[in-house]
Amino acid sequence: MAVFKPENVEDFYEIGEVLGSGHFGQVRQVRERTSGNFWAGKFLKIRKVACSRLGLDRSSVEREVEILQAVQHPNIVALKDVFESRAEVVLILELVSGGELFDFIAEKENLLETEAIEFMKQILEGLKFIHCKNIAHFDLKPENIMLSDKVSKPPNIKLIDFGLAHLFHPGEEYKSTSGTPQYIAPEVISCQPLSTAADILSGLSPFQGDTDEETLGNVIGMKYEFNEHYFSLTSPMAKDFIQKLLMKNPEDRMTAEECLLHPWIKPITPKQVAKRNRSSINMKNFKKFNARRKWKVMKSADSCNDAFLQRQCESDVEDTESKPASLLRRRLSSSS
Ligand code: ATP
Repeated sequence: MAVFKPENVEDFYEIGEVLGSGHFGQVRQVRERTSGNFWAGKFLKIRKVACSRLGLDRSSVEREVEILQAVQHPNIVALKDVFESRAEVVLILELVSGGELFDFIAEKENLLETEAIEFMKQILEGLKFIHCKNIAHFDLKPENIMLSDKVSKPPNIKLIDFGLAHLFHPGEEYKSTSGTPQYIAPEVISCQPLSTAADILSGLSPFQGDTDEETLGNVIGMKYEFNEHYFSLTSPMAKDFIQKLLMKNPEDRMTAEECLLHPWIKPITPKQVAKRNRSSINMKNFKKFNARRKWKVMKSADSCNDAFLQRQCESDVEDTESKPASLLRRRLSSSS
């Protein structure tokens, strides 16, 4: 059981600039007073009374902390310390200062498939590690795939935000309707029991529609296509890899471990190596996708506060039959 220190965080850390915001508070750069080292402080507001409309249940933060403590891996953000006051819990995390992976890629003029594979491998290594511990992230999306710093070569990926993560106990049936529409697995939308397989399909977004309803409909119907205009430079092995992830039935989807053994990631024959080396990513399309994604994130941040206030109490009793569009991005919805 994690120790939540009752001391004042400011006695140990100087609080600095805001690095990012989530639905339940801010993440700020903090400086350890004794060592001068920099860390990230995730400030989470805690509900004071069970029916309050503001903040998170303490138990949900305990879960996030317990999971972070169990997943120490080079591709996963590390947790250093936890402080607790009456109104908030502060997680002291490793400072991840390289920005989002997708922004780093979008700045490049070109990207070979071999470079993309190096990133993919690190994401899969992180996922394989947590899945082996029966933990699913359940909120894998570009905003939660960051780079440790701006100087490491090759860049080092860190998965962040374990706020929706879940540790499966043997035989447990777990359902949740939380997630982000573009990156959600179909079994989440249809309220099926979940497993670590949901992480394999999330984080990809070939399903983007004009509205959340349309996006969720595309996920459920598995509506996507390899438009030649965008995929003409993509190797057949990459397409095969993607197709084996985009399986509606979680049991048919490759696991993280199987992904790492797919010939696109781990080529066996010289022919496979050569094909991979000749292929590249369509950067024009990627930059467009990234710009649209950033715009959507900003838009949802603007509307989130209102939606959030309306939804929090409802979330405690949410109907599992509710319309797909009611899926929310954070720990607002039901889980059982
Ligand atoms: P959400 O409501 O979107 O799920 P959250 O409240 O769980 O968010 P996080 O996603 O963990 O919060 O963090 C919010 C933002 O803060 C991130 O998108 C990122 O920009 C920044 N951030 C989080 N952790 C770190 C870190 N360890 N180092 C640097 N920045 C971070």
